[in-house]
Amino acid sequence: MAAIQPLPNRDTVTTIREDGSRPFLFPADTHGRFTRARQISALLLIAFYLSLPWIKINGYPAVFLDVALRRFHLFGITLAAQDLWLLFFLITGVGFSLFFVTALLGRIWCGWACPHTVFLDHVYRRIERWIDGDAVQRRALDAAPRTPQKIFKRVLKHALFILVSAVITHLFFAYFVSLPEVWAMMRAAPAEHWSAFAFVTVYTLGLYFNFGWFREQLCIVLCPYGRIQSVLIDDHSLVIGYDAKRGEPRGKVGAAGAGACVDCNRCVHVCPTGIDIRQGLQMECVGCTACIDACDDVMTRLHRPRGLIRYDSKNAFAGRVTRWLRPRTLLYGVLLFIGASVATWALSTVRPANFGVTRITGAPYLVDAGFVRNQFFVRVVNKRTAPARFVVRVNRAPADLRQTGLTAPVEVPPLGEIVQPLVLQQPRVNYTGPFIFEVRIEDAAGKFHLERDVEFLGPEARLLREEEEEKREHAKKPN
Ligand code: SF4
Ligand code: SF4
Repeated sequence: MAAIQPLPNRDTVTTIREDGSRPFLFPADTHGRFTRARQISALLLIAFYLSLPWIKINGYPAVFLDVALRRFHLFGITLAAQDLWLLFFLITGVGFSLFFVTALLGRIWCGWACPHTVFLDHVYRRIERWIDGDAVQRRALDAAPRTPQKIFKRVLKHALFILVSAVITHLFFAYFVSLPEVWAMMRAAPAEHWSAFAFVTVYTLGLYFNFGWFREQLCIVLCPYGRIQSVLIDDHSLVIGYDAKRGEPRGKVGAAGAGACVDCNRCVHVCPTGIDIRQGLQMECVGCTACIDACDDVMTRLHRPRGLIRYDSKNAFAGRVTRWLRPRTLLYGVLLFIGASVATWALSTVRPANFGVTRITGAPYLVDAGFVRNQFFVRVVNKRTAPARFVVRVNRAPADLRQTGLTAPVEVPPLGEIVQPLVLQQPRVNYTGPFIFEVRIEDAAGKFHLERDVEFLGPEARLLREEEEEKREHAKKPN
């Protein structure tokens, strides 16, 4: 009977040799249900990503992070600079979602939805496969001496890589400046918008470097999510694993006492991170499912049940029960629910306009021609994508408080703002000390209003009294 293979522990990653050099990987092709499903999902994700700048909602791209005007348009919702605190919920929401999904489903994000995996496996590797051939041909071409044919293939492949990187970069840039603006910049000289030109150049080269050469190193060496996932999952989480109970002892077909694994190494040859899944769950596994399809294919040809490598929990692989409901999934689920609820409430509080009242710098008040005068600037911001008219009122103020400025409705352009002076004055004989009044803006349709409390300032009442007495004394004195 064949001996059970020990499952070696490694303290190095598969893509760095002991001397520090890197073995470039040539993962073999796979066919099967997961490969097909991932291709469809990648196609949809790429179409979604590339189409967002083209789809218009309320006159703006579906996702338009207008940095120049500090306005974010997200699927019809417009957030102004004052609303950026809401991004806190977006970022923490994404974080909690990843925690929750990872605790339940392991590296499902990495294998199915991460832009790095999606573009690498379904765009760049497709180009490479088209030009250089399958894994065997690619390896042979890599080892072959430099010939005109090899140079031609290399130039063609890298030119296409750079072209695709440039297209992705320009569409990504359109998320921040809009497509018409990107198109205008592309037709102008680089010197007219050198910072944009520098961004696009550096980003294109970064993508080219990553997808053309760095590849799986990003997941293994750089990606922080890859690092923290090991603390997010436990033995109940769904992972891609090898059923050692069924597969071991591995041995060639027909070997006496051998398990289901025929040691064909097909699962290793297809792995884009170069690992052997039979050694157990490893940090480098990005959950791409390639080894599942590869092994299922082998099992099918041998008329054996599929699933020697499959999605399951570590507990299930060990013959124990998998529990979906457990403290960490409950905790992450509750945090996710609370975060989603608070984010929904916060989004519902986003106002179509905002305003501020600022006292004119210098003297907080003026005493002049028998009046105590306070001067302000009122800034009204229209966050809608259509012009809006606003009425500015002063409420809860003494009846003798006179208002100058902003007595007529003001029109504010779409996503624009106006700043206008507001002067309030009260006869000094009636002034008895500082008081709070209300400034209120209403849209012309009366559907929306906002209020601010503002303080009316003046000299202390004691000073006023002393001044009055001094005047009276002065008046009594004979000339
Ligand atoms: S071990 Fe399997 S699922 Fe993990 S990266 Fe390799 S091929 Fe993909
Ligand atoms: S593909 Fe399946 S049978 Fe072949 S080595 Fe891997 S686990 Fe064993």
